Amino acid sequence: MSNKFAILSMDIEDWYHLYYFISKADKNYSMIDGFTNYVDLLNKYNVKTTFFVLGELAEPLKKEIRYAISCGHEIACHGYTHTRPIDLTIADFKAELIKAKHVLEDVSGKEIVGYRAPCYGIDTERYKILSEVGFKYSSSKMNVSGHPLYGEIDLSEFDKCIDGVYKKDDMMEFALSTEKFLGKTIAVSGGGWIRLLPWNTLMKPLIKKNLKNAECYTLYIHPFELSKKQMPKVNGTGLLTNVRARTGLGKVEGRIEKLIQMLKENNFEITTFANARQELMKK
Ligand SMILES: [Zn+2]
Repeated sequence: MSNKFAILSMDIEDWYHLYYFISKADKNYSMIDGFTNYVDLLNKYNVKTTFFVLGELAEPLKKEIRYAISCGHEIACHGYTHTRPIDLTIADFKAELIKAKHVLEDVSGKEIVGYRAPCYGIDTERYKILSEVGFKYSSSKMNVSGHPLYGEIDLSEFDKCIDGVYKKDDMMEFALSTEKFLGKTIAVSGGGWIRLLPWNTLMKPLIKKNLKNAECYTLYIHPFELSKKQMPKVNGTGLLTNVRARTGLGKVEGRIEKLIQMLKENNFEITTFANARQELMKK
């Protein structure tokens, strides 16, 4: 059995949930087909993963969720709406969390134990509520410097399991993979970075370096990045935002295939968070 884990997770939200678009985008247009495209891509390599689904999409995506489960993938929770926890009161956050967990359990027929905060915007106070309402792991910690959206979680009471994975009692946190680049820490794990940065000259060498030492690699991507549909232009958002959201679409599928190859060459076990947690709890 391998001691190194890779989780190629996807956050199930639509293109209009992007923080920069949410108030301005046309919600009648969907790019959620990327969900099933990703299930099919992973099936091709016999790889299982975790999907963090928004509670508000559970009913509309019942068919897609059940298809993913039938292929052996895990369903977890990405909140109810895509509001950052730090923008909600403690009481509202708790209520959203419980509502999302219930609807996802209804639709999936499974216990939902995993959580990822929308935009990684969670703090220590709200983080404590996760285990209170029955979550057993989270993947919400992003150690990237200078990003305007992310929150801070204090894990000083947690024990380190392996690099990037922390444990306290029943609760486990899987931090997102980062790497130093030009004095900054960037996520080598994210859809955005994999899409936007040049692959051969930048992303691939950074991921390669990361995989040499990493014990846990975590990827997060979104359905719009694997959609076969065009991303519409959004009026009222800046040119840079529009360009950033659109750049590199269409390249993600091939890059994920290369990533799977690299992970296999480096003896990573590509699996779901729930499965990695179970293995790591035995340590
Ligand atoms: Zn999200």
